[in-house]
Order: sequence, then C-alpha cells, then structure tokens
Amino acid sequence: MLPNWTRPLHKTDALGAGAKAGDVQLYPFHLVFQSPSLAYFPFIMDGAALTEGKNPIGCGISSRSAGTMSLRDPRGRFHRQRLYTSLGLDPMQVFTCTQVHSREVLALEADSPCEGPQADGMISREPGACLMVTVADCLPVYLYDTESGGFALVHSGWKGTGIALNALKLMEARWHTRPQGVAAVLGPCIGACCYPVDAARRRAFDQDFGGPSGAYPLGPVVKGPALDLQAANARLLVNAGVRHIALCKDCTFTDERLGSFRREGPAYTAMAALAGPLSCLGSAGASN
Ligand SMILES: [Zn+2]
Repeated sequence: MLPNWTRPLHKTDALGAGAKAGDVQLYPFHLVFQSPSLAYFPFIMDGAALTEGKNPIGCGISSRSAGTMSLRDPRGRFHRQRLYTSLGLDPMQVFTCTQVHSREVLALEADSPCEGPQADGMISREPGACLMVTVADCLPVYLYDTESGGFALVHSGWKGTGIALNALKLMEARWHTRPQGVAAVLGPCIGACCYPVDAARRRAFDQDFGGPSGAYPLGPVVKGPALDLQAANARLLVNAGVRHIALCKDCTFTDERLGSFRREGPAYTAMAALAGPLSCLGSAGASN
C-alpha cells in the first residue's frame, strides 16, 4: 500500500513575491507504515511515483517501535540488523556516515566502508547501495536524479541546513545532474508547529535562509517563534532549480509513531532514514 499522496497543492501561484517563473510541484503526504518497522515512500515526479528506470530508488523511515538505530547506542546495531534483514538488505550494502551536524557530503565509491568518516550526507550511484542517516526531529532530505540514477540522502538539522544543496552540487559535479531532473523528498521532521527556538537562532536562520526576495514555496522559514526546516530546504532547492518536491506532513514531536529528541529527551529514538533499492524498501510489509 502506498502512502496516501494528495494532489499537488501549490504551483507557482503559491510562491512568495519575487518567485521565479516555473512550475514548482509540491506533493504533501502522510506516512503509512506498511510494516511495523518501516514506512516506505517513493520519489514523485509529475504526480507519479518513480518506480521504474535503470536504478529505481525508494525512501523509508523506521518507526519508533523498531528501536533506536543510533551508531552510538549499543542497541543500535541489533535494531539496524533486524531492520535490514526484514527488508532483505545485506548490512554490507548499507552505507552511513559519522554524523556531526555538518554540511559535509560523501560520494560513495564501490570500495567505500559501510561506516564512513564524519559527514552528514552521502551520494551514490552504486547498484544495490542503500544510504542510511539517523534522525530524531532533524530533517532527512532525499534526492534522486531521474537522468543518471544517482541519489542522495542527507541529515539536515537547523545547524546543517544547506547540506541538501551541497549534495545537489556534488551530484552536478559527478554526474552532470540537472536540478530539473531531480525529485526531492523532505521527510518527517519536527514541524514549525512544535519547534520554537530562541530569538538569536531565529534571527540567524532567517538571515541565512530567509530574506526579502526569492521563492517561498512553503512560506517563511521562520514562523512566529519557530523554525521551519522544510520551508528552508524547499526554498534552497527551488532556488537551485529543483521542481518536484514531496513533503511529509507528519511532525516527529506530535506523532508517537516517530522518534523525537525534543519529546523523548536523552533516551530518544534515532530513526533510520533509508534511500536504497526500491526492490528492498518497497517490499516493506510484504511478509506481513
Ligand atoms: Zn508539531
């Protein structure tokens, strides 16, 4: 069962003053957990799920009930193995990095180690590779280049905002990726509904990612007392030329199926965000 996609809500007319011409398509969706441990969701372009092509890639997020997937928590290894096995993924085909809230992105090669050095995002075009970052309120951003079959997954909190653009630039440098050919998914994160921060951080975030001109596909990046991580990333991607963006409307803070640092505190559940072979991720729930 696929997530319950809704029709594109916004086109150019929803963009703020100074918006570029062009037909930005936003696809809001809610998570559906096809299995107890994973919600699968596809990339979307022109209103259709991308399920074919030479390197079909799917997206996923693990549930809170699947347990923490943290690389720093001793239970994480067991939880990750159990998740991968349920999806038919060999742990040797899953690649991750040592997350430090940076804007660094690694390009995976055939001989890259499964646990990479300090960075918060990866790009790959290796057949069979699955990328994994952990999130718990921070935003996972998934990118798929329909023309080259390359894809990216980044962990983007307030501090690392901008890393999605670094991934896109690396894809452009490596594979001549055109932003117009990219489908993006902004996964579940803490919503602007629940993410108040202090005035200094709001000001800095607005200075870096807001501003008086340019497209605001999801409204201002600072909403009242809160940051909107999805709005900031949508704005960056749209200004870079990306035209197809699916966005998860479920807030990690209020949705108890999801892990949240702010809600759960120090014992929070780090969820695994996965971008990998559609044949594995799209199989979630097949054995249930
Ligand atoms: Zn919320």
